[in-house]
Amino acid sequence: MRGLGADEAYWKGLAEGQVKVQRCSHCHHWHVPAVFRCGECGSWELQWQRVAPRGRIFSWTRTWHEFGAPKELGLPFVSVVVELDEAGGRRLMGTLAEPMAEVKIGQPVEAEIIQTTFEGETIPALRWHRTGAAA
Ligand SMILES: [Zn+2]
Repeated sequence: MRGLGADEAYWKGLAEGQVKVQRCSHCHHWHVPAVFRCGECGSWELQWQRVAPRGRIFSWTRTWHEFGAPKELGLPFVSVVVELDEAGGRRLMGTLAEPMAEVKIGQPVEAEIIQTTFEGETIPALRWHRTGAAA
């Protein structure tokens, strides 16, 4: 993979089947996207912590038109922003497994890691499954 910058460990984690989020070793602030230096306390000591791929839907949108997204997503697809349970409220994006499902803000979800193809490159992605009713 090219041009990963500070997020490299996130993408490597996904490729190995794990969701990892960066955390400051000094002040314990979570960072998404990843940073090279903590903006909260100025520390350069950052670590990557494995977190459960679980959370609640923070926002979502359903896409009906093709515009170059990976073909694995099909049409329509639902993009979701999910607030993680274990990462200080940090949010990750992905798609919902059921594109025609009734989606609600606050709905609990759990992710599986899938492989998508974009411009000939295999890229891991999060596909979220609904696990219960909205709070
Ligand atoms: Zn910090």
